Amino acid sequence: MHFDTLAIQAAHQSDPTGAIIPPIHLSTKFERDAETYEPVGGHMYSRASNPNRDAFEKALAQLEGGAVGMAFGSGQAATMTLFQALRPGDHVIVPRQAYFSTPLLLEQVFHPWGLTYTRVEMSDLDAVQAAIHENTRVIWTETPSNPLLTMTDLLLISQMAHEAGAIVVCDNTWATPVLQRPLDLNCDVVMHSTTKYLGGHSDVLGGALVFKDPNHELALRVRQIQQLGGAVPSPFDCWLLLRGIKTLGVRVRAQQATAQALAEFLDGHPSVEKVYYPGLDSHPQRALVKQQMNGPGAMLSFGVKGGTAEALRVCGHLKLFIRATSLGGTESLIEHRATVEGIHTNAPDNLLRVSVGLEHAEDLIADLDQALKKI
Ligand SMILES: *Cc1c(COP(=O)(O)O)cnc(C)c1O
Repeated sequence: MHFDTLAIQAAHQSDPTGAIIPPIHLSTKFERDAETYEPVGGHMYSRASNPNRDAFEKALAQLEGGAVGMAFGSGQAATMTLFQALRPGDHVIVPRQAYFSTPLLLEQVFHPWGLTYTRVEMSDLDAVQAAIHENTRVIWTETPSNPLLTMTDLLLISQMAHEAGAIVVCDNTWATPVLQRPLDLNCDVVMHSTTKYLGGHSDVLGGALVFKDPNHELALRVRQIQQLGGAVPSPFDCWLLLRGIKTLGVRVRAQQATAQALAEFLDGHPSVEKVYYPGLDSHPQRALVKQQMNGPGAMLSFGVKGGTAEALRVCGHLKLFIRATSLGGTESLIEHRATVEGIHTNAPDNLLRVSVGLEHAEDLIADLDQALKKI
């Protein structure tokens, strides 16, 4: 089955009323049978499980080619639960280039709690190998990376991790399963901020983990922490996510086509120093992009000629792009990543990150052109 068909099938649920769209089950409690005293519909209490959450978890697991999905109240809650499933004394390897708050979670929350971690440049395989210790349990990857769109070779990293008895988690938020399926590339766990493309309309906060092996010790422990700790999304959020899944393929491909057009326009523009986009032949890992992904995606970054002042001026003159953080919605967003990340940022000061929406490419290009002419 092609992805788009799978998405519609996975997101569809039959309902006893004949409704072809599922109801939102706001009930926090579920009844037990008079004779058997078993839960009538398999649910007991919505922290442990809820029909809408179940449906979303199963659908996402199918899209990623995994065995079991688990949904959380945010991407960070999903990441946090994975780290909580480890034990004090365990070691984690995280990318130097990653979503800003992932290593921050390790530094601020889990290091004091007893996890050790090493940050490495994931495209440098020797550096990754050197960072592996006997207590290394997890290699965390994010590809393409935030905000410079660097690729990580998931097959090779998985091989290195497995030889050392560690697992690989891939933050697949930017690629989505439309463009990249990490579990097919031997990763063990996929993480999503469902806030982004899966929700797709900038109105849901959520996260998820998908495991390849439902009986892996960490999968069982994550489920236990999810149910005991309760960092779960609401039934309505899960309902919105299930709806988002149905249009994921068409949205991502349309956004990607526009991103390619924008990247080609920006590449070589006299006011632009550099474009970071996996769909350009100038991308240093173009071969890996083609090997690992079905397409380069809808996120791009570019450096303007100048520094912070020039970058902010371009943002200020744009009329169609919204100046806001985050990504994956229908509206194009632009942000000056260094300002958003603050003093500890690795982002170059002239860098602007763009999440391409569903507007027409020609209108977005005209908007960029007029803004770039004003710096
Ligand atoms: C947004 C994002 C996260 C964090 O997710 P939240 O839903 O904001 O908690 C993690 N990884 C990536 C790549 C993201 O873009």
